[in-house]
Amino acid sequence: MGLCSSKEAVSESSIRRVHPLNMESSVVLTINYAKIPNKFKRLPQNKSCGLIGLQNLGNTCYINAAIQCLSNTQPLTEYFQQKLHNHELNIENPQSSRGQITNAYAHLICSIWREQYNKSINPFQLISMIQLWNPFFVMNTQQDSHELLAFLLDMLHEDLNRVKIKPYVEEKTYDQQPNQIQANRAWQDYLKRNRSIIVDLFQGQSRNFLQCLICNTKSYKFETFMYLSLPVQGEGDLLQCISEYLKEEELDEGNQWFCSICKSVRRSKKGIKLWKLPNILVIHLKRFKFTQSYRCKLRQLINFPIYNLDLNNYSEQEQATYDLYGVINHSGTLHSGHYTSYCKNKDTQKWYNFDDTKVREIKEKEVVSSDAYLLFYYKNCVDSYERQSELMRSSIKNSQVSLFKQSNVFENNNLNPSMKQGMNKLCIPEIEQQLSTPQIFGKKKSMKTQKLSPLPRKKPIFQVSDNQKMQ
Ligand SMILES: [Zn+2]
Repeated sequence: MGLCSSKEAVSESSIRRVHPLNMESSVVLTINYAKIPNKFKRLPQNKSCGLIGLQNLGNTCYINAAIQCLSNTQPLTEYFQQKLHNHELNIENPQSSRGQITNAYAHLICSIWREQYNKSINPFQLISMIQLWNPFFVMNTQQDSHELLAFLLDMLHEDLNRVKIKPYVEEKTYDQQPNQIQANRAWQDYLKRNRSIIVDLFQGQSRNFLQCLICNTKSYKFETFMYLSLPVQGEGDLLQCISEYLKEEELDEGNQWFCSICKSVRRSKKGIKLWKLPNILVIHLKRFKFTQSYRCKLRQLINFPIYNLDLNNYSEQEQATYDLYGVINHSGTLHSGHYTSYCKNKDTQKWYNFDDTKVREIKEKEVVSSDAYLLFYYKNCVDSYERQSELMRSSIKNSQVSLFKQSNVFENNNLNPSMKQGMNKLCIPEIEQQLSTPQIFGKKKSMKTQKLSPLPRKKPIFQVSDNQKMQ
């Protein structure tokens, strides 16, 4: 994917906010979609669906708030409304919920968006499936909405993973290769095991590096992410939080890096840059702080933009701007709090406060508050989102590599125009069928084990590791 959207390839003319009149609102998403139309922004409609409250089944506001933000994720909801999940369910996937969570989620979303009526919906079916597959989210205890969201997206991904048999993919380092090639290989390796509507919409790629401070050798690692978990310090704005998160820092003693050139443990520093930016960007403000000696909630106001969040300075290779469409709020204290969400409805283009069964319109200026905990942004500079798919193996890949080798200008990203054209031509369309039978299969866990412990098995890299549960 990296090759298809180098910084130069995204020209200024293509960076523009989608005008509502340009919306191809009549385009219907089909099963072999190559692109997902971006219909977040449209002219206000006469009808207003999706404004339905959800009943609280006993401390389940953290689930309701997450569902409402996902429900207002226009392309995801359209995918379920078009029943595309029926074609993609992967019930054999040992990491899935056998489609149970996805079926319950699809049923709920279709009910929410079916018609204009004011009564609330009981989300019992979905919540009981979530609890069945992850006993951590049992009834009557307030949990962390971010952890619930992470689990739900993970299960939707595995239930809808288009990879039927995950090939074993060896973790490799390509330190001798230019960043562009490393990034592309890491992304392609990831797609060999993970392709779904969730990957298409929510996942991006970061470039992590370690540097020896004695010989200055750098080592890069490209990783996939689904959230940015940002530190909250003093009052400030979102861009400051992002800068703080991405700033380079020296590793403390005892945590230092073994430099392969010095052949010794050395003083070193680490840093992160965003590389490939996701279509839907979920930002988690780390308001819950847990240390050995104390636990607290950070209540500072972090200002965040509703329009045109600009990440151009934070990505090494892609330019993009984002508009806000959802916020999960947490009010109250660590020990007794309540979750609600603010979401922008794609039909009315107005903002609403979803507070369990209650739904009421709010003013746009109310959206930014010190209760904001998770932010949902969509890329506003494109009119469609591309499906992520593996490129043809071997021949294409080798030609990309040789093309890059000839250019010899990767580090400063100075590809000349003819080179860029050549790269764009190499971006071939979607090839979704298995290109070859995998030779080595990944370790398959027994179904029995999976059923007994259906906990999420992989953690997104930006997810915090410290214990963040709500009591
Ligand atoms: Zn060194």
